[in-house]
Amino acid sequence: MRWDNLTNDAEAGAPALFAANAVTTRTIDTPEFRGITFHEIRARSIVNRVPGASRMPFEWTVNPYRGCTHACVYCFARKTHSYLDLDTGLGFDSQIVVKVNAPELLRRELASPRWRGDHIAMGTNVDCYQRAEGRYQLMPGILSALAERANPFSILTKGTLILRDLELLRRASRVTDVGVSVSVGFTDRELWRTVEPGTPSPERRLDVVRTLTSHGIPCGVLMAPVIPFLGDSPEQLRATVRAIAESGATSVTPLVLHLRPGAREWFTGWLTEHHPRLLRRYDALYEGGAYAPKWYQRRITGMVHDLAAEYGIGPYEPGAHRNLPAREPEPPAAPEPAQLSLL
Ligand code: SF4
Repeated sequence: MRWDNLTNDAEAGAPALFAANAVTTRTIDTPEFRGITFHEIRARSIVNRVPGASRMPFEWTVNPYRGCTHACVYCFARKTHSYLDLDTGLGFDSQIVVKVNAPELLRRELASPRWRGDHIAMGTNVDCYQRAEGRYQLMPGILSALAERANPFSILTKGTLILRDLELLRRASRVTDVGVSVSVGFTDRELWRTVEPGTPSPERRLDVVRTLTSHGIPCGVLMAPVIPFLGDSPEQLRATVRAIAESGATSVTPLVLHLRPGAREWFTGWLTEHHPRLLRRYDALYEGGAYAPKWYQRRITGMVHDLAAEYGIGPYEPGAHRNLPAREPEPPAAPEPAQLSLL
């Protein structure tokens, strides 16, 4: 394992954020965490500048974890585990790096005279409300630090655990701009069970949206990923947009599956096992690289926007919450480690 390669959100080649001897490895023998290994580290910094931020609607991120037990087969962040010489498949799902000093570091960095109080996005690389958060409870300290400085922030998650921090979110929203989005790409239960095996069900995620909005925290939905040939039929799109609208979400933003290196191999293995007849169609659709062709992305976006209008829910408005992509992603010219991971 190359701990000296754990850099500021996985940018290979950047200076290490902690010393190799600062790692404590734990396995916890409870049913909830069986098979999962936690690598506890004391990080050297926590506020991360996004490389190529001009393409993203945020410039700064905080990510207290690396790896994600939500285990979404398509997760783009898988690649980042390879920078530690960790496996990008099952290893990404079960070898979780925990920055145990994240709250105290954040307090310190926000207090620095050099910090300008910019918006901070969370959940942009891996889910900050994954199951590990139930054990390590880093987010309450992080939210408190942000609220104390009235620092604007946003969270993107699939985790129902965010409701544990509802009161903290409400308190923060009284003093600063707080944006919350939940990711729900589809409501098909069979698809959910196999492709997002560690996540709360789509219904439970939409219950989170309902609870947040009813408690005065506006919440949008990132409808991601829309999975070609498995979650993109007109009926599926309609059912998903209708459920999102019924949850009280303030916006819906569709995003088609993209398959970058690391995720692509793992997803293709899953496809081979579960839907082998689709392999050729996927090869054809993604022959240009990590992104589905523009015509396909436009078709899905147009259908979702039409449905959203029909059900009375708006598209995402840039600047409203700042935690959703302001535009469809373009094929990047160079790797961008800290992007939305289709949470
Ligand atoms: S897509 Fe999001 S929730 Fe799923 S494994 Fe990746 S980081 Fe976790």
